[in-house]
Amino acid sequence: MELLDGKYVSEKLKQEIAVEAAEVLAKIGRKPHLVAILVGNDGGSETYVASKMKNCEKVGFKSTLVRFTTDVTEAELLAKIDEINKDAEVDGLIVQLPLPNHISPEKITEQIDYRKDVDGFHPVNLGRMQRNLPCFIPATPYGITMMLQEYNIETSGKHCVVVGRSNIVGSPMSILMARNAHPGNCTVTICHSRTPDIKKFTLDADILIVAIGKKNFITADMVKPGAVIIDVGMNRETSETTKSGYKLFGDVDFENVAPISSWITPVPGGVGLMTIIGLLKNTLVSVKKEVYS
Ligand code: NAP
Repeated sequence: MELLDGKYVSEKLKQEIAVEAAEVLAKIGRKPHLVAILVGNDGGSETYVASKMKNCEKVGFKSTLVRFTTDVTEAELLAKIDEINKDAEVDGLIVQLPLPNHISPEKITEQIDYRKDVDGFHPVNLGRMQRNLPCFIPATPYGITMMLQEYNIETSGKHCVVVGRSNIVGSPMSILMARNAHPGNCTVTICHSRTPDIKKFTLDADILIVAIGKKNFITADMVKPGAVIIDVGMNRETSETTKSGYKLFGDVDFENVAPISSWITPVPGGVGLMTIIGLLKNTLVSVKKEVYS
C-alpha cells in the first residue's frame, strides 16, 4: 500500500500557484481575489472557510470573507452576490454550503456569475465540463484528478466505482472519470442510497471513490485487493484528545482497507487538502482569463 499524500501534493502545487500569483501581480498590478460568503457559524463551515482564506494568503491571493447571520433573507443574499458579481476586482466567488433551510442553494448557485464560479457548481460550468469544454471544475473532483495525475495513477480502461451522487462531489467526479481525457477513460459505475448490494459493485472497482458522509462505511470485505481508494468523507466527531476538540474520520475504514489497497488517501491529509488546491487553481485561471475572457 502507498499513500496518496494530500499534504505533500498540495504543498507542492501551492508553491507553483504562488509563483503564478506573483506573475499576475506583476502583470496586472493586483493579486488574484477570492470572496467567500459564510452564513451562520456552523463549526465545520467555519473551519473550511478559514482554511480557504488562510491558503489564499499563503499563495499570495487576496481573500475577503463576507459574513451573514442565519436570519439573512434569500433576497439579501442574492443582492450581495449580484454586487460581488459586478466587482471587476473579484475573480472568484464562493458561498459556503450548507445554507439555512429558508435559502435555496440552487438559486444561490445560479446567481453567482458563472465566470466567477470557482467552486464550479453553476450549471453552465457543469454542462461545459460534461462536454469537455474549458470551465471551472468543481473543486473536490478537480483536486482528486490532480492527485491521480501527480502519482501517475493509470485510469484508462479501469472500472471506477463512485459511491455518492451529490452535485458537488459524486456526480461531477463520475463525469470526469468517464470523460475522454486524462485522468479519465474509465468505465464508471455510480452507487447511491438506493443501490442494492453496493458490495457487489465496490468489489469490482479498480478505483473506488467514496463520498457519502458515513464513517467507516467501506470495509475491507468490500474492496478488491490492489484497488486505488479515494476517501472523500469528512465525518467530524467531538474528541477530548485533540486540540481542536474534534476528530475527522473518512467514509473508508482506513486501518483495515489500507493493507489490501494499492494506493489510498488518508483522512485527514488527503482529499480535503486537494479541494483547496482546486479552488486556488480555478481562481488563478479566472484572473488570467484562461476559461472565460
Ligand atoms: P451529500 O450531498 O450528503 O450526498 C451524499 C451521497 O451519498 C448521496 O448521493 C447519497 O445517496 C449517498 N449515500 C448516503 N448514504 C448512503 C448509503 N448508505 N449507501 C450508499 N450511498 C449513500 O454528500 P457530499 O456533499 O457529497 O459529501 C459526502 C462526504 O464528503 C461528506 O462526509 C462531506 O463532508 C465530504 N466532503 C468532503 C470534501 C473534501 O474536501 N474532502 C468536500 C465535499 C464533501 P442519495 O443521493 O440516494 O441520497
